[in-house]
Amino acid sequence: MDKKALYKNVLAWFEKNRPDAESELHFRNPYELLVSVILSAQCTDKRVNQVTPALFARFPDALEMSRSDPEEIFSYIKSVSYPNSKAAHLHAMAVMLQEEFGGKVPSTVPELMRLPGVGRKTANVVVSVAFNQPAMAVDTHVFRVSARIGLTNRAKTPLEAERQLVSHIPGKWLGRAHHWLILHGRYVCTARNPKCEECGLRAWCAFHAARENGASTGQGPASGKSPKKASRKAEPVALKPAAAKKEGKTGAAEQKTRGRRSKSR
Ligand code: SF4
Repeated sequence: MDKKALYKNVLAWFEKNRPDAESELHFRNPYELLVSVILSAQCTDKRVNQVTPALFARFPDALEMSRSDPEEIFSYIKSVSYPNSKAAHLHAMAVMLQEEFGGKVPSTVPELMRLPGVGRKTANVVVSVAFNQPAMAVDTHVFRVSARIGLTNRAKTPLEAERQLVSHIPGKWLGRAHHWLILHGRYVCTARNPKCEECGLRAWCAFHAARENGASTGQGPASGKSPKKASRKAEPVALKPAAAKKEGKTGAAEQKTRGRRSKSR
């Protein structure tokens, strides 16, 4: 099947069978969405939704958050993953929102990517969900599912996958396609045990076809392997405000700091 027909069939299936796919994060405005997406990096949406009601009650906007400090923000988000670096990012992000954007969340990817803790994936989610712009955010689920089905070919990084998807999916579908692929990866095409028997996409899926033919699915583009670690933009990372501008450090650094924090209590 050629690529055009593959995309057509897959998108038509999602439209028919998953018409209401949308973000599982709870938010009421672009600021809350941005904070929630930063918190959701390497964490479940469910966990994020548990901490954000109290967080947003205390910090209803960027101004309030900018007037606080990472220590106080940490106390509201300590049950999510990497709370130290996320607290530092959120505070630095709120300060920059106040100082450079008048307290408002910007609506373009380049502007968003200037904010501490915001990488390309987060920026794409925000412009797509909050501002209804055509953008494709590629997280680990989108990357894996797209590769398995064959929507992307030999993409080694999220950016490569994004470019391939954007070149085939009409702009008006991009936002929904992002949610379709994420939710499919979360609940059906899971990383370790994809539920191919109950998947409506198996008629067109390269990974399933290879499995049925007895071919190895451990290698190659259809394996759904994670993107190269070196090129991943892990979003919760830097620990010091100075370094909090962008992603780059590891979870190990966060764990170390977390250990020091608990010892000092
Ligand atoms: S058929 Fe299997 S591998 Fe293909 S998309 Fe469905 S669950 Fe994933």
